[in-house]
Amino acid sequence: MAAPKGRHVKVQPFSKEAGPCSPKGRSREYMETVVGNWSEEEVKRFMKREAVFSKEGFKDSERLAEQMLNRDRDPSDNRRLCFECTNLRGRTCLAQSVPPLRFILQRCDSFSLRGSK
Ligand code: SF4
Repeated sequence: MAAPKGRHVKVQPFSKEAGPCSPKGRSREYMETVVGNWSEEEVKRFMKREAVFSKEGFKDSERLAEQMLNRDRDPSDNRRLCFECTNLRGRTCLAQSVPPLRFILQRCDSFSLRGSK
């Protein structure tokens, strides 16, 4: 997928390394036995992200939250979502002249981590 002209964003394809299952709607017992390699913090983060993406109307919210978990675990993966950026205001980016790619992990030269200041 080519980035729109003028945008300094590298879109990365979906990683097929996502785990076989996710915790949405699962009991604690299930999580401990089947999804045992997820820390409690990862589970909470996953559920929070999934809820935000779902509320925003993204149909594949669970998959994206899982992609983010895998990204968080990989120190060499520096892709981000616009949702994590201080430049995102609603559906508008304050730093780029084109609409933000809100549900795609990407690298963006103008990215600024939300809550880091
Ligand atoms: S919101 Fe942030 S990450 Fe997304 S396009 Fe704008 S500057 Fe880049």
